[in-house]
Amino acid sequence: MSSEHSKPEALDMEGTQTTKGRCMCGNVRYELTGPMFDVVHCHCESCRRQSSSAFVTFFNIDKAHFRYTRGRPISYESSDGVERTHCGRCGSPISYENPRELSIFACTLEDLTLVKPQAHIMVGEMLPWLVFGDDLPCFEQGLHHGKLPVVHGPSNLLPVSVENIRANSARTNAARDHFATESATD
Ligand SMILES: [Zn+2]
Ligand SMILES: [Zn+2]
Repeated sequence: MSSEHSKPEALDMEGTQTTKGRCMCGNVRYELTGPMFDVVHCHCESCRRQSSSAFVTFFNIDKAHFRYTRGRPISYESSDGVERTHCGRCGSPISYENPRELSIFACTLEDLTLVKPQAHIMVGEMLPWLVFGDDLPCFEQGLHHGKLPVVHGPSNLLPVSVENIRANSARTNAARDHFATESATD
């Protein structure tokens, strides 16, 4: 209908336009019918492992405003009450979900220019070889843990200790070794 194309700004302001996303191969597709919020770069070890990337960018969406329009991703319970999903065909990470929140990896959006990152989170786990030039607030944990940002701009962070990063990886590596051994004996 032509009216759908005549007032895109008004639709934008109401946050009711439909935004679409997909995995790499297109087997999993979704749409958003409400605004994205809490757009962050996350530096936690779990997001890094799920995406095999140095950090991830995700946004939150009300669960009522999200639906799959094609296919369904495979779900993996990465810890108690936390489901992380990916496409079973191409492997694209899609989401992080706990009982309260639904986070979608931003680079699954069809239009990647829609994302306006607001903060870095979990900066205590940020890799020492990453360099950023932005002035976004940096949080030790998530956005809603009641703490103020430790600095504005990742370049103003104290260097993350390499020992901390190694210790963190060693913990998760050991946990996975244990898991793999248990599974093999089933
Ligand atoms: Zn796919
Ligand atoms: Zn994370």
